Amino acid sequence: MRLFSIFKEIVIHVVKGPSTRNYPAEKREPFPGVRGKLAIDGEKCIYCGACARKCPANAIQVKRQPEKEWRFERFRCILCGYCVEVCPKKCLFFTDRLEK
Ligand code: SF4
Ligand code: SF4
Repeated sequence: MRLFSIFKEIVIHVVKGPSTRNYPAEKREPFPGVRGKLAIDGEKCIYCGACARKCPANAIQVKRQPEKEWRFERFRCILCGYCVEVCPKKCLFFTDRLEK
């Protein structure tokens, strides 16, 4: 009886194909609102520092003097999204994939 149920499962899966995806060759579209990685549109940034002040993980450093600089330590980021919310220029956003 047990052998029969195993055989039945084998036949079902041979006919239907695998339930899994052939990753990474076949990738699923990301879900809406997924937080992949923080990114910045540097053209819009005014170096106000609001994102750095709000960041609970201290992952962003902003300098205005002597040169304007916006630095991000990716491995400190916990993807909370506070910096995206507070940016007055809306230049921070999340990518939909964990890219290199
Ligand atoms: S998403 Fe959160 S942890 Fe990451 S840089 Fe922005 S405020 Fe900091
Ligand atoms: S809050 Fe926005 S505009 Fe201000 S420094 Fe951060 S990224 Fe730039």
